[in-house]
Amino acid sequence: MATVVDPIAARNEVERAVNALLGPDGLTSRPVWPGASTAAPAPGDWTEAITAARAIHQAADRLMHDYACRARGEGRTWADVADVLGELVDADTTAPDTAAFASMARDGDYVVWTCTTCGATVTDYGPYDANPANAEAGHTNDCARHCAEVAAYDRGSFD
Ligand SMILES: [Zn+2]
Repeated sequence: MATVVDPIAARNEVERAVNALLGPDGLTSRPVWPGASTAAPAPGDWTEAITAARAIHQAADRLMHDYACRARGEGRTWADVADVLGELVDADTTAPDTAAFASMARDGDYVVWTCTTCGATVTDYGPYDANPANAEAGHTNDCARHCAEVAAYDRGSFD
């Protein structure tokens, strides 16, 4: 079950981050809404706020990719990642796991992560080939996780 994040709370956190990036010199006191008698710190130049929000958007995108790689490193599947990507994965797709991989791999055909079981750097070619021996390269020969996944696949019970 995915954690539900309140979108208003997320917006408020991003707004705080924008204001922090602009710093005290980049903020001015503005009415909290047009015509309001109450004022609060707000960006002094909206185009500078756009620049800060864009930087946060790009950083969040890079973090999302990094978190997906860390989840894979800890053994989560691409289907697990698809479950939390929401609208970033086409709801009509019959293969949300490959859509999640494509979203995180972007222009490339692989992603790289560190396996938390063997400590090796693994190249992940996505969930296109059900055999983990073909889909992931780089685990140590004795990686318990990878050996178990390959053995499960060989028994025909890997899913
Ligand atoms: Zn490993």
